[in-house]
Amino acid sequence: MAKRNGANRGKVILVAGGAGFVGSHLCSALLDAGNRVICLDSYLTGSPANVAELQRNPYFTMVEQDVCDGIASDEPLDEIYNLACPASPPSYQADPIHTMMTSVTGTGNLLRLAARHGARFLQASTSEIYGDPQQHPQQEEYWGHVNCTGPRACYDEGKRAAEALCFDSLRAGSVDAKVARIFNTYGPHMRPNDGRIVSNFIVQALNNEPLTVYGSGEQTRSFCYVSDLVEGLIRLMNRNPNPGVPVNLGNPGEFTVIELAELVLSKVRTASTIVHAPLPPDDPQRRRPDISRAKSLLGWEPKVPLQEGLTHTISWFQRMLPEQRPVRRR
Ligand code: NAD
Ligand code: UDP
Repeated sequence: MAKRNGANRGKVILVAGGAGFVGSHLCSALLDAGNRVICLDSYLTGSPANVAELQRNPYFTMVEQDVCDGIASDEPLDEIYNLACPASPPSYQADPIHTMMTSVTGTGNLLRLAARHGARFLQASTSEIYGDPQQHPQQEEYWGHVNCTGPRACYDEGKRAAEALCFDSLRAGSVDAKVARIFNTYGPHMRPNDGRIVSNFIVQALNNEPLTVYGSGEQTRSFCYVSDLVEGLIRLMNRNPNPGVPVNLGNPGEFTVIELAELVLSKVRTASTIVHAPLPPDDPQRRRPDISRAKSLLGWEPKVPLQEGLTHTISWFQRMLPEQRPVRRR
């Protein structure tokens, strides 16, 4: 692993998946807090552009590598955040076996690295471990309702296996592992062609193309602005007084897909209309986090309402939008 001289500066923190959407904001916040950051990323769904600004910081090191390959580090590490995994359904379904291995082999490799260095470990898990939930809103005690043979299983089951690896490492006393169950998050640095709802709708609206609502659009999601999520991740790594439990991180505001489409249309000057396209298989019908645990353990709750977060995100896409088109599911 590459070395850069950054002695006497805060902690040394490895962020796997640090060139992705959430990871790049996390790296930036950790640098701002006075730490050294090593970003390990294969650029599968991340991009050099997300970390271009950070590359000018002498306390930032970029290592281009797949987490499925053996990871060596000869320098001490204080913390490891594991965000490495494609997160949008079209991306994680493009090479489903690699997605599963990223969560299983990749998390295993990073946990071994954490054990070697005595580093604290945070796993970016997901609300997808609840599958198409039969409990609403979702509390951490809920075991979930996941189809283990469907096209989302590579992601959902991979993340469930990664959680098991974390809790087994914790029980074995080898790693101080924490698990964040992240609900739908949005903001600047999402790829325009990522395929997720917020980036699709904004890019479609800015391009005067129809907004593609899958199915009836009555299904719901809860959208968290990225700065709120990053704050929650850092608090969980540093403050969680009860490490043996997973913690939901998300914004409890719940919106239907149609409501989100109408909100985007109201905020962008556009000729776009709404069209309906087939609902992908196993698409969860309802999703909203119960964040009581995050509130009590971390003193955390989201601050940025959807209206405000969308305004920031739309402005960013207006400035950055290249000649790319959103991915449309068939
Ligand atoms: P993203 O796709 O933008 O970022 C993932 C990053 O991981 C990318 O930079 C990608 O290149 C890298 N990566 C993927 N596979 C890799 C591999 N095998 N080796 C090395 N690097 C690899 O996604 P995101 O939205 O930033 O999500 C970050 C993490 O948070 C993911 O683990 C995701 O599962 C989790 N999460 C995100 C959300 C969300 O709404 N954004 C929700 C739940 C969970
Ligand atoms: N969705 C949609 N149009 C799009 C992209 C997504 O209607 O262009 C829907 C999708 O079917 C799902 C919701 O929006 O019900 C959230 O999808 P996303 O892929 O963003 O995240 P996830 O399904 O993983 O929560």
